[in-house]
Amino acid sequence: MASIGTPRYLNGALSASYPFQDRPPLITVTPQGLYCAPGDFHIDPWHPVERALITHAHGDHARGGSRRYLGARTGEGLLHRRLGADSAIDTLPYGERLRINDVTVSFHPAGHVLGSAQIRIEHQGEVWVVSGDYKRAPDPTCEPFEVVRCNTFITEATFGLPIYRWDDTRLVAEDILRWWDANRAVGRSAVLFCYALGKAQRILAELARLTDRPAYVHGALNSLVAVYREAGVKMLPTQLVSEVEKGTSFAGALVLAPPSAGGSTWMRRFGEHETGFASGWMRVRGNRRRRGFDRGFVLSDHADWPDLLRTVADTRAERVLVTHGYTDPLAHYLRDKGVDAAPLATPFEGEAED
Ligand SMILES: [Zn+2]
Ligand SMILES: [Zn+2]
Repeated sequence: MASIGTPRYLNGALSASYPFQDRPPLITVTPQGLYCAPGDFHIDPWHPVERALITHAHGDHARGGSRRYLGARTGEGLLHRRLGADSAIDTLPYGERLRINDVTVSFHPAGHVLGSAQIRIEHQGEVWVVSGDYKRAPDPTCEPFEVVRCNTFITEATFGLPIYRWDDTRLVAEDILRWWDANRAVGRSAVLFCYALGKAQRILAELARLTDRPAYVHGALNSLVAVYREAGVKMLPTQLVSEVEKGTSFAGALVLAPPSAGGSTWMRRFGEHETGFASGWMRVRGNRRRRGFDRGFVLSDHADWPDLLRTVADTRAERVLVTHGYTDPLAHYLRDKGVDAAPLATPFEGEAED
């Protein structure tokens, strides 16, 4: 974390054209996390606080120990799984407004994972939106991203470099099915590594449009798949690997597992197999080779470079703060294009597996 208390702006002060230039920033970075003083709450805090507003259930955004939580209603099941059943979690349907002290807040779909939200905060006519993680690509497992007009937009930048551009998700899903079929034809299993929350369910949902063959899943994915099923998301039928009878052959099977299972003794049961990794990081060829996967599938739950730029423009924000990932390159690029933009230093992790 570079500085604490105020955004770390490039080249000193931002332009004087911001309509609320005379006011203190509505959100600042404190040691606990992003903090809204007039509302007296934190957003995705990394240390326990009194009141936490949560954008989504990934580990670097939803952390335990806070007194009260508020999130989007469709993410309730995932938040309870992440934060524990006895955490005090309130939820709000998308779009519904709630007064908290001197501000009005509402949650709006971020298109990232089930129940993911951008948080809109309004204070005396000034509107800030905290994007959380988001994407614009269609995803059958969650509500599509909603453009929210605001004065200041805090955007993520996990893939904030021009090299990151995604292909059509349907083409990627067809590619995965072809890879599975090719392995199946020669009696090999196909072990596909993917992020346990969001990516795995998205792959199972995309594949369900192409086939109805069941897939096997690692224990780390299984309970999350169950939460998505409860929410009504249609996915391939799944079976838990550890519930398969000993000695059963996995020849021809597709197995979904978190990257941490790679190289572990858990892999031995699959006999002859190929490995794949579904991640935005697979856009860079060297990453696949270096990590020793047979195949890389470029699939991310974050906005790619063109969609980051498009989204910033769509919000019509007069000021953009960039967090989470390639903050400096994206902020520099926007400033070069005449956008009042600056990086905002936070310890969000940038989802190394996504
Ligand atoms: Zn996330
Ligand atoms: Zn994140």
